[in-house]
Amino acid sequence: MSEKLLTETALNVKDAFENISKAAEKAGRNPSEIRLMAVTKTVTPEKINEAIKSGCDLLGENRVQELLEKYEFYDKSAEIHFIGRLQTNKVKYIVDKVSMIESVDSLKLAEEIERRCAKIGKVMDVLLEVNIAGEESKGGFSPDEVVEISEKIKEFPHLRLRGLMTIGRFGAEIEETRQYFEKMRHLLVDIKKKNIYNIYINVLSMGMSSDYELAVSEGATIVRIGRGLFGERKYV
Ligand SMILES: *Cc1c(COP(=O)(O)O)cnc(C)c1O
Repeated sequence: MSEKLLTETALNVKDAFENISKAAEKAGRNPSEIRLMAVTKTVTPEKINEAIKSGCDLLGENRVQELLEKYEFYDKSAEIHFIGRLQTNKVKYIVDKVSMIESVDSLKLAEEIERRCAKIGKVMDVLLEVNIAGEESKGGFSPDEVVEISEKIKEFPHLRLRGLMTIGRFGAEIEETRQYFEKMRHLLVDIKKKNIYNIYINVLSMGMSSDYELAVSEGATIVRIGRGLFGERKYV
């Protein structure tokens, strides 16, 4: 197929995969260690399915309502991770639809995921969200809580801790962002050391449209891209 026939979304997906590969190789990493997530807030199912058809096998939703409205229209060959603020009373709607919850930001939420997953006999992969820049407006655990929380998560039989997620500070300079990503990489090492029998702790979800190549060079295993694939968001 000639490039002209590819949709804009398909071209963006292709570019993103290429950029990820280049950044990985430059950092001496294997590109296959890194997954591209298409972040789908405000995006129509048609466009989302174009991204899936172009090789993107991971979607990120951050609103329960939107996930429920669009879910039936998704090509089910892609996995879905939940990446947004999650109220405990909404957990029940999504546990059967997502394969990972990346935004666990309180023990109360972890408890509710445990309770709901126990009911349906599922073990949910989870990431702890880290408020790496210590921003007032953001959820997530502070970096010094993370190790302790990771040990508590061990007690939940229906949760499987896979690693950490963060959203960089909006508007930060490159060097500041790089330091946050580096700090995240060290935190992942810290929780691995504390949970040495958990071979599943190997996921670092960080980097968005504006900084995913930097995130790859600092060790990201999932980069979450919205605007870079689908264009600017239109909120209605
Ligand atoms: C919207 C969003 C993204 C993607 O942001 P872009 O700048 O559009 O790439 C990534 N992660 C989370 C948690 C988001 O809410």
